[in-house]
Amino acid sequence: MNYSRLKSYPGLSREDLSLHLVEATARILPEVSDGPRAWVRRLFEGRGGHLHLETTVVSATDGHVVLSDGSEFDTDLIIWSAGNAATRLVRGHTDLPVTTRGLIQTRPDLRVGTDDEIVPDAWAAGDDAAIPDLAVPGSLTVPNAQNAVRQGKLLAKNLLANLRGREPKEYRHSSLGAVATLGLGTGIFQFRRIVVRGPLAWLMHRGYHVLAVPTWDRKVRVLAIWLAAAFYGRDIVSLASVQQPRAAFTTEADSTTP
Ligand SMILES: Cc1cc2nc3c(=O)[nH]c(=O)nc-3n(C[C@H](O)[C@H](O)[C@H](O)COP(=O)(O)OP(=O)(O)OC[C@H]3O[C@@H](n4cnc5c(N)ncnc54)[C@H](O)[C@@H]3O)c2cc1C
Repeated sequence: MNYSRLKSYPGLSREDLSLHLVEATARILPEVSDGPRAWVRRLFEGRGGHLHLETTVVSATDGHVVLSDGSEFDTDLIIWSAGNAATRLVRGHTDLPVTTRGLIQTRPDLRVGTDDEIVPDAWAAGDDAAIPDLAVPGSLTVPNAQNAVRQGKLLAKNLLANLRGREPKEYRHSSLGAVATLGLGTGIFQFRRIVVRGPLAWLMHRGYHVLAVPTWDRKVRVLAIWLAAAFYGRDIVSLASVQQPRAAFTTEADSTTP
């Protein structure tokens, strides 16, 4: 963990902070191989993080968390990031064919249907579409922005082709590798056997993401905010008003009521 932000919160000390990462399987970062993964684990634990592998959350009530490995602790913040699911609308409120996970059954050319049967005038792309991954036979394309953005562009081209009486093209995208930041200024990148660690991987991650932001207008805005943060530090914002937007009004009203 990066404790440099503590100076912005005089009411907090290093001892008040503790991070537990709970993972149901036997490994974190499945996208990278064993060596780089072990390095990430050492980095995480070296910063004081607690890693619980092959562990699930049994309960989280009134700020008290119990884990299946027997450990329990109090916490003020829980970040739940365990998987995603198809929206209820797609899962149960259309007559489109869906998989057992509720995703829309989609062909590699992004038309809804199977190899044998096409649903006329129905197309799908993105997280909720079950699209066969032609680069990894036997699997579906991974629900991430890399695929969603490319599928969206192909879907538009295929719609146009269809209107002009041409055959739609199939979606095929080979992974460009995995990249992740591990806090400010460090990260990891892996493409096949090429592994980059530390500040260079962090820069690659930032560079890739700014290039992936749609439109030049947005790219410049995002880059400007990052550059400002590099010189002046992160912009600190209180989330209290987001969680309880009425609180400021009621407090003010109470204080001015005679
Ligand atoms: C915290 C987080 C971090 C992520 N980080 C990465 C990353 O680093 N790299 C990466 O590649 N991917 C990342 N992803 C995944 C990526 O965001 C998704 O794969 C991608 O946004 C999927 O695009 P989509 O168009 O299919 O769905 P979405 O982007 O979810 O868009 C669906 C849209 O449909 C709208 N909608 C829903 N229901 C209805 C309705 N009934 N009527 C009308 N509109 C409706 C929603 O409001 C939404 O705007 C991340 C996701 C999350 C949650």
